[in-house]
Amino acid sequence: MKQEKTPRKPVIFYYMIAMVILLLLNALVFPALLSPQVTEVSYDKFLTMVGDKQVKQVALEDDVIIFTTAGEKENSFVYYKTGRVQDDQLVNRLQESGAEFSAVIPTQNSPLMNFLMTWVVPIAFFVLIGQLMSRMLTKRMGGNAMSFGKSNAKIYVESQTGKSFADVAGQDEAKEALREIVDFLHHPEKYKEIGASLPKGALLVGPPGTGKTLLAKAVAGEAKVPFFSISGSEFVEMFVGMGAAKVRDLFKQAAEKAPCIVFIDEIDTIGKKRDSGNGMGGNDEREQTLNQLLAEMDGFDGTKGVVILAATNRPDSLDKALLRPGRFDRRIPVELPDLQGRVAILEVHAKDVKMEPNIDFGTIGRATSGASGAELANIINEAALRAVRQGRDKVSQQDLEESVEVVIAGYQRKGAMINEKEKKIIAYHEIGHALVAARLKDSAPVHKITIIPRTSGALGYTMQIEEDERVLMSKEDILNQITTLTGGRCAEEVVFNSITSGASNDIEKATSAARAMITRYGMSDKFGMVALETVNNPYLSADTSLVCSQDMAAQVDNEVQSIIHNAHEKALEILQSNRSVMDQLAEYLLQKETITGEEFMEILKKADA
Ligand code: ADP
Ligand code: MG
Ligand code: ZN
Repeated sequence: MKQEKTPRKPVIFYYMIAMVILLLLNALVFPALLSPQVTEVSYDKFLTMVGDKQVKQVALEDDVIIFTTAGEKENSFVYYKTGRVQDDQLVNRLQESGAEFSAVIPTQNSPLMNFLMTWVVPIAFFVLIGQLMSRMLTKRMGGNAMSFGKSNAKIYVESQTGKSFADVAGQDEAKEALREIVDFLHHPEKYKEIGASLPKGALLVGPPGTGKTLLAKAVAGEAKVPFFSISGSEFVEMFVGMGAAKVRDLFKQAAEKAPCIVFIDEIDTIGKKRDSGNGMGGNDEREQTLNQLLAEMDGFDGTKGVVILAATNRPDSLDKALLRPGRFDRRIPVELPDLQGRVAILEVHAKDVKMEPNIDFGTIGRATSGASGAELANIINEAALRAVRQGRDKVSQQDLEESVEVVIAGYQRKGAMINEKEKKIIAYHEIGHALVAARLKDSAPVHKITIIPRTSGALGYTMQIEEDERVLMSKEDILNQITTLTGGRCAEEVVFNSITSGASNDIEKATSAARAMITRYGMSDKFGMVALETVNNPYLSADTSLVCSQDMAAQVDNEVQSIIHNAHEKALEILQSNRSVMDQLAEYLLQKETITGEEFMEILKKADA
């Protein structure tokens, strides 16, 4: 219950501010009202004034006497007070003088006015301020103030998500697992009869953009049961204590609507490991929310027909308590699509777009190894935008290929001014990459070379596309890659005898490839199959940490150096012995700015003949 009260704190705070303001106003504007000017006099002076019949009204209190005399204005009074002395004659004296006396202090206002000013007005004022404040707060929260602590969990039903499994391309294993859950919600008796109980919760795990949210929405569309959806980040932006209340409310609603599905997207925002505190006792708010979630999940009876789905791309950071049996005990991996999957995703998204006939999605699929579903959807959209920009009403293969490059390297920088000398260096640099790749055995064929700068900062690039999907990389493959990466810089050295900053990205890639060979793939003779690095998050390749001694780390650095040095030597050799064809190719590229893999191979073959 505590959680529900805390949000009202601010309102009380504003009330207090209002009270202070009101008191100040009172004191400034109506000083006589609440605290009339009172002159203190001695008892014998009081008696003298009574004797002179000056005193008009007298209030007899336990140890003071407050009395008034007529003021200058009509109906106004001057206030006095004096200490009360044991005086049996007092009443007689007062009667004699004709003063009014009672035990109540007289005021110059009518009692009604007095009551209004001291009670009704301030209270009305507070109520007004309070209402204003709560209205403001409500607006900011986007809800009804009276439903503090009630979540606005969105209910998605079939018609609202409008997604079905047909919208999700590939991901067959994930769909299969989810289909079972849908089936359970439709025919619970089938499962009950045999005594099976389905997992309470299923966790969709995979890199960003692979369609986890999409899959959950598709489940909602297929299941035809109420679908409660909330994103982990929504919990975080609430007032303190609101997260837990929201979880409670969400599950209460779900219990009423069972059979139904509860979907918690980006659960890592609330489900982070609790011990990973920041030294300040961690994040209490998130912890409370997580604890509430755990409690609610335990409170559920598995046979009631409430299935909890959650999605995350940071499974490594989830609190272990979330993953133990009885909670999210089923993991559904949602991986990056393979070649077949990429083609299927492209086709699904191409359905909504007018395409020229005989589009070859296979080529696009091969060119986009490692791309997520979201990126592929983006490629189709970019292609459609390009077609519109050029005043066509259908998307062509050319549009698709260009948009692959846009997604990989950014837009062309048409207006970029690059002088002739630099253009020449860039052309040689790219030809250097391509030529080294072509001369190495078993390296991926060159698909395209361009020296049109991109918004990403790339001044040119060489695109290589594998002929078919690879799931394994051999040591030779990686060495070939590294050698090809050094090819750009080598060409600069061979031709211009100087080097430029243009190779920084190549150097970075080559270094991390060489490192991975040694520390993770066990491909160096020196260290053999020893893991020197662990991967923290399988979906973020850069998120790794060393697990070896300082001494070992220094040796790894040396080994990386020698791998890259050898690759560089090899590339230099290739380019030096192919100098004349390199000149030809660079000249051709300078003229055309973009050349295809076929054009490149044609020139190369002619020279070889
Ligand atoms: P995630 O939640 O895994 O980060 P989303 O479900 O939000 O990814 O996917 C983003 C978009 O990418 C989807 O709306 C959809 O257009 C596209 N997409 C991703 N995966 C697929 C897929 N397997 N099939 C079709 N479209 C996909
Ligand atoms: Mg998502
Ligand atoms: Zn390069």
